[in-house]
Amino acid sequence: MSDASSLSPVRLVDSHAHLDMTVYETDREDVIRRAVEAGVAAIISVGIDLPSSREAALMAAKYSIVFAAVGIHPQESRNVTGRDIAGLSVLTKEKRVVAIGEIGLDFYHLLASPEQQTRVLEWQLDFADYLGLPVIIHSRQAEKEMIAVLTAWNSRRSHPQKPAGVIHCFNGTLETAQAYLNLGFYISIGAYTGYPSSRAFREVVNKLPLDRLLVETDSPFLPPQRIRGNRNEPAFVVEAALVLSEIKEVSKEETARVTTSNASRLFGLQI
Ligand SMILES: [Zn+2]
Repeated sequence: MSDASSLSPVRLVDSHAHLDMTVYETDREDVIRRAVEAGVAAIISVGIDLPSSREAALMAAKYSIVFAAVGIHPQESRNVTGRDIAGLSVLTKEKRVVAIGEIGLDFYHLLASPEQQTRVLEWQLDFADYLGLPVIIHSRQAEKEMIAVLTAWNSRRSHPQKPAGVIHCFNGTLETAQAYLNLGFYISIGAYTGYPSSRAFREVVNKLPLDRLLVETDSPFLPPQRIRGNRNEPAFVVEAALVLSEIKEVSKEETARVTTSNASRLFGLQI
């Protein structure tokens, strides 16, 4: 006998959302309820600095659908001190903190120097390895440097048997994707893949193995095409999965099943 929930047509993991952001201040409960109603089984709420990481951990403790990632975003890495680092390590002791992120390199905005970004990234990569947690990587206009940093990290990881992490909002070439896959990373895509400007990128996604893909919203950013300019939210991860199922020409049920099992394996979710 199966219960009603197993009959649900979609059961998805939104692998990347920023639920702590102030755009959700007045209706966060409704946002989470709509995600549950849409068939979302888990949301990873991702920190960008110490305060938002703390918020993510608090929300994971409060809502059974939410899990947290804690970390310092490259754009926030300019003034990182030992106190931030110590604060992060305290947060990782929380049971529902499942990843270190989001961390990475952003040479588009360059709010911190490349050297400083790299230092903060490398420290967090080694910290994640020490804890045996996966990482959530943000990479913008820094693919060459990112692959170099991750390749060096991969050769010194003490838990090479564990999945390394995920490249969030991937939007690169097939060659870059292949390099990340070879380093043990999953690749996460969102509804932006359906934008008219993503036509060439859809050809790349078509060639990626479904068993290494995750779906995400990056809420409140990057909403589906039909509501561009408005706030995104985790319920719309369904649309990211639909775009993926169309590109891969597999059913939406199969897309949901595989991406959810990938996310569960990567983050160690019991869902
Ligand atoms: Zn993000």
